[in-house]
Amino acid sequence: MVTERSTLDPGFSGSLWARTAAPGPELPVLAEPVEAEVAIVGAGFTGLSTALHLAEAEPGLSIVLLEAEEPGFGASGRNNGQVIPTLTRPDPDDLVARLGPERGERFVALVRDSAAFTFALIRRLGIACDAVQAGWIQPAHSPERFERVSRRRFEQWARRGAEVELLEPRRLAERLGSEAWFGGWAARTGGHLNPLAFVRGLARAVLARGVRLFARSRLVALERRGARWRLRTPSGRVEARRVLLATAAYSGPATGALARSFVPFRPWMLASEPLGENVRRSVVPGGEAVSDTRADLRFLRWTADGRLVSGGALALPLGERARLERRVARFLAEAFPALAGLRFDFAWTGTIALTADRYPHLLALGPDLWAWIGCNGRGVALATALGPHLAALLAGEDERAAPLPLERPAPIPLAGLAGAFGRLTLPYYRWLDSRP
Ligand SMILES: Cc1cc2nc3c(=O)[nH]c(=O)nc-3n(C[C@H](O)[C@H](O)[C@H](O)COP(=O)(O)OP(=O)(O)OC[C@H]3O[C@@H](n4cnc5c(N)ncnc54)[C@H](O)[C@@H]3O)c2cc1C
Repeated sequence: MVTERSTLDPGFSGSLWARTAAPGPELPVLAEPVEAEVAIVGAGFTGLSTALHLAEAEPGLSIVLLEAEEPGFGASGRNNGQVIPTLTRPDPDDLVARLGPERGERFVALVRDSAAFTFALIRRLGIACDAVQAGWIQPAHSPERFERVSRRRFEQWARRGAEVELLEPRRLAERLGSEAWFGGWAARTGGHLNPLAFVRGLARAVLARGVRLFARSRLVALERRGARWRLRTPSGRVEARRVLLATAAYSGPATGALARSFVPFRPWMLASEPLGENVRRSVVPGGEAVSDTRADLRFLRWTADGRLVSGGALALPLGERARLERRVARFLAEAFPALAGLRFDFAWTGTIALTADRYPHLLALGPDLWAWIGCNGRGVALATALGPHLAALLAGEDERAAPLPLERPAPIPLAGLAGAFGRLTLPYYRWLDSRP
């Protein structure tokens, strides 16, 4: 049995979430050959939500879930915990233009409802993860962006029945307790949570529904044997009819073309020391999650124990943590004078899967072998809400009913290298952010 936690990667074990989330369930390592109808690889929001909804829709179906380390070891246990019912770049009209009116509107509705779905799931399963559905605000970083971006997003989501509001500059300043932005819009169904606590709660829920979940059981080879897939781990193997690779930005060589279909991007998360009640009342007093319109994103959210969690990325890795702490402390103090002299107790990193077009993609990697890729930094709600739809695919539903078209993977040349050098484009993005 696995008893100790992953300590190898401080990007995981050094996080505030690893310190504050209740321990996950004890899990076995796969140490023998097993058979299953469905195998899912990766125990983050995608793998766990899919396994959960599949087990609920098809009681008795044999489902195996393989995790290389422990549930939440990937982005799901390391993110900022903002539950956001939008994508980063494409807006609803863009999605409909690309996917067509029928599928496009279906996918837009999925995104629109994704945060409400996530909070409802947490309530239904009774997961203690400091979930706060106080809303999500996207402030505009220039008056022109407010006119061009905020108004457009608000209008497109409002037209589709989303619970959104436009925040004129004065109203936004009141909501944030800051005059550093120029108006914005908000989605009332959004909010924030402790992501690792959510993952661990999902892991308990899938176990309770009969899913066989193995930790420290990395997929090292995947091969087709007749009408089934064979998944090999260092000490066992699974034979399964249908397979979902839910390995996202942590996909390695065993996942074949999936590992080359995104650019990895590694931002830092920073959690402040606990702050006093007077500061909490003056900085985003309503407790919303906040992430602005910059490409070099500025974001923050409160935690249950009164810390602010923010973060960012730098172009050059040298001394990155200390330099980033100074940069983030500076921007927070400029926006909120009450935060002058802010210190950070926790810093950690995680990897995001960026796609070349910044759209999410559903991939058919072979017969009965699927994956999705491209959260582009917005995956807490989306990955969770995709669970029932991926479960339907694994249950044999017609691919035409899927929320996105099934595509062949399109490998990005030198994807890993692009990730290493991609951060050098940050100054360019900052220059774009400085323009109207
Ligand atoms: C620093 C950071 C901040 C973020 N902030 C936010 C935010 O505030 N809001 C938001 O909406 N989104 C945010 N995101 C994005 C969000 O976290 C992800 O979209 C989401 O967690 C993806 O979930 P997933 O289950 O698809 O993948 P992951 O959580 O990455 O899970 C993949 C799993 O697969 C496992 N794995 C990999 N290879 C193998 C193998 N060979 N065998 C077995 N298992 C394997 C990994 O160990 C991992 O547990 C952030 C991401 C990062 C990195």
